[in-house]
Amino acid sequence: MRPLARTFAVAVALIVVPQAGLPALADPAEPAPPAVRDFGNGPERNEVAAGTPGEASALRGAPSEERPYGWSHDRGYPRRTRLPLPPENPADASIKLGLVPYHGIAPKLNDLQWRGDRVSAEIIGSSAQGRDLYLVTVTAPESAAQAREQARIRERIENDPAAAARDRKLARTYKAPIFVNGNIHGNEWEGADAALRTIEQLATSTDPAVTDLLKRTRLYFNVTANPDGRVNNARQNGAGFDLNRDFVTASQPEVRAMRQIMIDTQPVAMLDLHGYVNGTLIEPTTPPHGANYEYDLFITNTYANGLGMEAAVNGLGYTPAKDGVEPAQIPFRDSAEGWDDWPPIFTPQYAPFHGAVAAHTVEIPLRVNGSVYDQTPAEELRRRSAVNTDVAAAAIRATYGFVRSRHDRLIADQIEVFRRGAAGEPSKPVPLGIVPGFGPEDVYTTTFPRAYVIPAGSGQRSATAAARLVDHLIANDVRVERARSSFRSGGRTYPAGSYVVDMRQPKRGLANVMLEPGADISPRVDAMYDISGWSHALLWGATVEPVSSLRAGTVPVKVAAPTGSVPRAPGPLALRVGDAKEVRALNDLLAQGVAVTWNGGTAIVPASARHAATTVAEHHGVAFTPAGGHAGTSSGAEAGTSAGPGAGAPLGQVRIAAAASADELFTLRELGFPVTPVSTAVLNAGFDWSGIDVLYVSSGLSHAALNPAARTALEAFLAGGGVITRGQTGARFNTDAGLLTATTVPGRGDANGVVRTVSSGGPVGGGSPAHSFVYSPLWFTGLGPDVTVEQSYAADGPLVSGHWRPDAQGAGGPDAARGQAAVVSGRDERGAAVVLFGTEPMFRNHPKGLFAQVARALYWSSSVTGATVTTP
Ligand SMILES: [Zn+2]
Repeated sequence: MRPLARTFAVAVALIVVPQAGLPALADPAEPAPPAVRDFGNGPERNEVAAGTPGEASALRGAPSEERPYGWSHDRGYPRRTRLPLPPENPADASIKLGLVPYHGIAPKLNDLQWRGDRVSAEIIGSSAQGRDLYLVTVTAPESAAQAREQARIRERIENDPAAAARDRKLARTYKAPIFVNGNIHGNEWEGADAALRTIEQLATSTDPAVTDLLKRTRLYFNVTANPDGRVNNARQNGAGFDLNRDFVTASQPEVRAMRQIMIDTQPVAMLDLHGYVNGTLIEPTTPPHGANYEYDLFITNTYANGLGMEAAVNGLGYTPAKDGVEPAQIPFRDSAEGWDDWPPIFTPQYAPFHGAVAAHTVEIPLRVNGSVYDQTPAEELRRRSAVNTDVAAAAIRATYGFVRSRHDRLIADQIEVFRRGAAGEPSKPVPLGIVPGFGPEDVYTTTFPRAYVIPAGSGQRSATAAARLVDHLIANDVRVERARSSFRSGGRTYPAGSYVVDMRQPKRGLANVMLEPGADISPRVDAMYDISGWSHALLWGATVEPVSSLRAGTVPVKVAAPTGSVPRAPGPLALRVGDAKEVRALNDLLAQGVAVTWNGGTAIVPASARHAATTVAEHHGVAFTPAGGHAGTSSGAEAGTSAGPGAGAPLGQVRIAAAASADELFTLRELGFPVTPVSTAVLNAGFDWSGIDVLYVSSGLSHAALNPAARTALEAFLAGGGVITRGQTGARFNTDAGLLTATTVPGRGDANGVVRTVSSGGPVGGGSPAHSFVYSPLWFTGLGPDVTVEQSYAADGPLVSGHWRPDAQGAGGPDAARGQAAVVSGRDERGAAVVLFGTEPMFRNHPKGLFAQVARALYWSSSVTGATVTTP
């Protein structure tokens, strides 16, 4: 047993749990990330295009927006692309390590493409800061006809796996795809350099084994998955996101590019190259294991390749005494728990859903980042980086050797993954001892429903959210259909137009891992590496229902049907703000200066703004209703509102000063709020509050550390300003600034997951979903008489899925949170309008269905204080 170097020191208010010793999020006071992309999946139309996916697709153009770069199935190899050369950047952090700077990659790839006929480079996307992403393919030359034949086989393996399994010639013809992902964490550099070295060796080798390899495989290299971080000496991309936590959400362009690589190339094996763990860490992982994989196939191949990589790495001859390099370790074999493959947020835990039957994180050994980067002489750093590059290259070499030697079997196992899915076979328990050490603690299974139904008929409260979820599933290559007529299942009648996710499909594992509620794994393991709960069904705002039978006439869906509408009758319009897209639409109207009235969760838009409303309805797929007596009839009752013209308070654009984590800044901007990042230092330097309506505090702002001038300025703002807080840092700010009377009770710091909640009809809680997400949950007791409970943790549970235990003293567990206030609001004596969140409604941009709750807090607080009406 070799315990892994990791801790559970979850820093308060940090969103990302750092790997041991690695820096977490960038300081919120750092320069703002670039402007965010359009929130939706493209402009929408009012016309309902149910059942006509081609037409809807043509109207909206969503696929081309989602995938602006063409990876062709039709061109032969090599595909020489003269890559544009980025400007030289002497500040590139790679240079100090003696590694290839980002601007040096394109020239090298251009050279290699024209030095032989084995290397192709393509631009497959663009980073958050606008840097090109390069996919390199190394293979023996193929004519266009041969490339099309490879594409046909790939498509057949996925979509007709039973026939593919019977085809004995298939494996003889098919080139096994291998995917090597380098440098996804920007300050774990050497995976990219090892990829470049390997590409060059394969391109120029005269070894017959290499010639044979390239005839039987295609090797795909995403040379640097995170060019922003590579240049900036940062783990995260330019938007501050840890890309290796984003695969279920795909909020970042780099992750969408990686996802598309996996869908298009369908690798049988993949490597994700990281640092730094000494000795080199090579997956497979400890329990808990994701329950939606075909784990018998996965563990057999992944463990075998893990052993091969270990031998290759140890075979380099580096020693602890001479080089400071410890022998490699394999968590599955060498540790009890703490390095798991439970959440599919990591690259190698996402790839198996697209057919990878061997997938690994590899952590190369010698630390060169963090404080080591700053404090170690360049010569020593370069020695370490050279060792690390050797180790990463050895892992790549071992993997392609493994695929060459196990070529037919890996292809057969990938076919079997898809075959079981398409046949709808039950989850297969893995036999104990299938590989040495595979015990009862390793067995995780699930029960697949027959299908999931996502109702989305017109007038449905969640039609907008349903469309977003459907488009997300499709972008993940999950098959979605639409019912042509109403159908019955499980005693319920679903209307025509309901979306159906038939679980008899090749990628049913991916469908299920997103649509199932998840599981409470607290009893089974002591410690988890990262999050344990997520759920697109419970957190994305759409209604998702598992059904045990399916008899429905359906048509395939390529893109969700448009959901935007404006009533025909003239007059004022109402927009109930229950979804992120409704927030975005409202913010677009406010940015145009439309005179909006805010009435308890519903925005009232004057008849004169009909044209603007029609535009945002189309663009964001939101539905306006008549604002007269009918305002919000479909939803107003549950939101506790009855809006009419003239009711409510004027609402202007809400300008936010935010001391927040990067994912919160990103989400607030994505929602269309103007956001100015602040921190203790920024306020102490003399901050101009005149253009700010609401202060958001979750990270990097301490009231106690403010200087007298900053406190005076803050006090002036608080007299009639708005404050929203989240987490411990926010709650402490509330206490220190003397805002709401409330006592903050922290749950266990590493607890996280999906929780059941009960909402009040208050201005913030009204209309909220029945679930929320927590990480280091908080609740509020000892509430003052003027404090309103907006949302509580449910008395049953509250944990639905995730990991949440009491601490060693028995405190801070889910039992203690039952019925407690999770979100509260109130006015303080100065007149400030304050909302405190004990939940995580914007966590890593994932819980789309919760974003509107934060927005309602912002609208409420600025409208009751009248902050925004003074804005011209
Ligand atoms: Zn890493």
